[in-house]
Amino acid sequence: MTEDFMNQLQRIAEQNLADIEQAKAEGRAAIGFYCLYSPKEIAVAADAIPLPLCGTRNDPIAAAEEILPRNLCPLIKSSYGFAVTDTCPYFWFSDIVVGDTTCDGKKKMFELLSRYKTTHVLQLPQNQDPATALAPWRSELERFRKVVEALTGVAITETRLREAIRLMNRERSARKALMDVNKAKPAPLSGSQLLEILFKVGFLANWEKGIHLMEEITAAAKNGSFREKGAESGRKRILLSGVPVGVGSDKVVKIVEQSGADVVAFENCSGYKQTFCVAEDKDPMDALAEQYLSTPCSVMSPNKGRFDLLGEMIRDFSADGIIDLTWQACHTYNVEAYQIAEFVQKNFGLPTLHLETDYAESDTEQLRVRIEAYLEML
Ligand code: SF4
Ligand code: SF4
Repeated sequence: MTEDFMNQLQRIAEQNLADIEQAKAEGRAAIGFYCLYSPKEIAVAADAIPLPLCGTRNDPIAAAEEILPRNLCPLIKSSYGFAVTDTCPYFWFSDIVVGDTTCDGKKKMFELLSRYKTTHVLQLPQNQDPATALAPWRSELERFRKVVEALTGVAITETRLREAIRLMNRERSARKALMDVNKAKPAPLSGSQLLEILFKVGFLANWEKGIHLMEEITAAAKNGSFREKGAESGRKRILLSGVPVGVGSDKVVKIVEQSGADVVAFENCSGYKQTFCVAEDKDPMDALAEQYLSTPCSVMSPNKGRFDLLGEMIRDFSADGIIDLTWQACHTYNVEAYQIAEFVQKNFGLPTLHLETDYAESDTEQLRVRIEAYLEML
């Protein structure tokens, strides 16, 4: 049964490239996105196809390092490497790409990226105080709306925006329902399975197909189709927090599983941060500005929302331990790790394992030793 779903997912993912090619031939635009702060609804409202572009693979990093410094976050190098090697079909399909002024490395990378593709950068405020940050952020979204209108030739009306918000809220709810399956003990989905499903669904141009598939998988997982009920009981339940992970940058998830524990949930941009719905009962541009600005990422100072979310998830997913993952040279998550460990210890009496690594396999055995020692201690 598990095989069937994973094969179905693979088939849909492969068909997706043909679907995008067809849609583009029919005149639809494609817009590539690098960060969770960029509102995809504005693209969807213009009938454009939003495509996620954050690099999660190690292969293109060597090419990126010919231009970018080596001691830069692997996510930035991987994203840039895909562009310079022209090996990502989603980058290739994108008519424009959209970034945000999040961390220093990423915003400087976008300057170089603009040599390969028209790049629109949203000037993201560095704090979430509505009194100072909301108005400039809302005007940034208005500027983006005009860019998308000019690209697609579609007037992004209030009605179109409301429809896009409703559609994306359904997608977010389906994602949340899928992830929430793992609140059950033992977890019906392994961390690797969950990550692969969320990752691949994120690329689908047909949103209805993605929603339907996630609903089917959720129902099947609840019925024990992915793991036999009771077979996995007794395994420690780990919550993975910190930087985004994806297929190709999931070595920590795999090591945890090989060490006899489960990653039950992801407090990051690949997981739960994609589940927050946009309000449907107010001006759509106001609602988008408010919801997106509140994304709890370490580039914000302070970043109170991450602590609230983490606390809620530790309780809801009955976590036995927290692994806080930082990509090498990511200063914001690295510095925040101290406060995260302090928060988790004080409020839940749990130790946190902070890991700093990259996408390469060279430190796999060192990570394994640290993870096994941590699991032993829990
Ligand atoms: S971790 Fe922060 S900067 Fe990176 S994709 Fe998520 S919101 Fe954007
Ligand atoms: S992981 Fe850190 S350094 Fe890398 S892109 Fe995200 S915020 Fe920037």
